[in-house]
Amino acid sequence: MDDGLRKFIEGMPKIELHLHIEGAMEPEMLMKLAERNGIELPYKDLEELKAAYKRGSAYKDLQEFLDLYYQGMNVLRKEEDFYDLTKAYLTKIASQNVTHTEIFFDPQGHTERGVAFETAINGITRALDEAKTEGLDVEVAGRTENRKVTSKLIMSFLRHMTEKEGFETLEQARPHMDKIDGFGLDSSENGHPPTKFERLYATLKGEYPDKRLMAHAGEEGPASYVWEAIDTLKIDRIDHGNHSLDDSALVERLAHDGTGLTVCPLSNLKLSHTLDMDTKQKMVSLKEHRLKDMLAANLKATVNSDDPAYFDGYMNENFIAIAEALDLTKEDITKLARNAIEVSFLSPEEKIQKNEELDTYIERDRLSSQYVKQDTGHQRFFA
Ligand SMILES: [Zn+2]
Repeated sequence: MDDGLRKFIEGMPKIELHLHIEGAMEPEMLMKLAERNGIELPYKDLEELKAAYKRGSAYKDLQEFLDLYYQGMNVLRKEEDFYDLTKAYLTKIASQNVTHTEIFFDPQGHTERGVAFETAINGITRALDEAKTEGLDVEVAGRTENRKVTSKLIMSFLRHMTEKEGFETLEQARPHMDKIDGFGLDSSENGHPPTKFERLYATLKGEYPDKRLMAHAGEEGPASYVWEAIDTLKIDRIDHGNHSLDDSALVERLAHDGTGLTVCPLSNLKLSHTLDMDTKQKMVSLKEHRLKDMLAANLKATVNSDDPAYFDGYMNENFIAIAEALDLTKEDITKLARNAIEVSFLSPEEKIQKNEELDTYIERDRLSSQYVKQDTGHQRFFA
């Protein structure tokens, strides 16, 4: 890839809209928390654990990933563990020039292991609040810089569980609503259509009209699940949404409504995303990814990392990989960044400010690329 484009991506101010905090569990963190909590792992050392993360190759199947994922979740026991995990993620993205993130957490993945709802949410929000107010110390080019990251917290329901269990989790969440900005629906999609949660979402919308709703749909499930998410659950944003492209009426509707799609390229690659529902053809290369088609169809597609520790990359790695595979231009990349601003849950004033930051960055890049370094070492201006 062109080094200029890589640097452009790395330096660009970015917003992340699809991130599961439990998916930011790096092997080193997993090891540290397991030791701290006296949990025995089925690996003899860090190297063996790292190998289980299958860096650079796809998981055998969804189950292989989920087994690893739930094992990673299992080391989260105390508030401090959730705090450390969240702070490590925020520090990492701050170093990648991500200035705002909207993160999911899965309370049911913790409460069903006997970890209290408040243990999880208090640890996560303490780190989120510190990143907003005090900022994070980030190593950039050999020196330490303090950077702030703003955020929203989205409580997600596990769709393989029942709607009744979802309602029980909602009860546990009620005292913490001041910390929650929205609700999502994740975990295994097939066989668990959005309509399964129709009553729960109607309750959320009725009782918390200021909070945002979203659902994972059209990742492994069909376009009909995306329809259900928008018409039945009345969501504000679709997570993934890849299979929306299979239905032209749906594409038209999403484009008309300006509904955001939080696309996760490396996640799709590492989980061998099913490209074609009929033939079950699997994605083997990012060159087959349909992100460019989404942009061409005027969909508000964005780039995100999903579970960065398990899928080989945070925001920069996702942007670089997809830009390289699809030959994206600077214009495509800035379009993706603008879409993220537009479909984020920031206020109108904050969106203006984010767009201005991006404008400044693009202008600076435009000016600097008018200079080319000559062999003599002098810089010459090309008007
Ligand atoms: Zn996800």
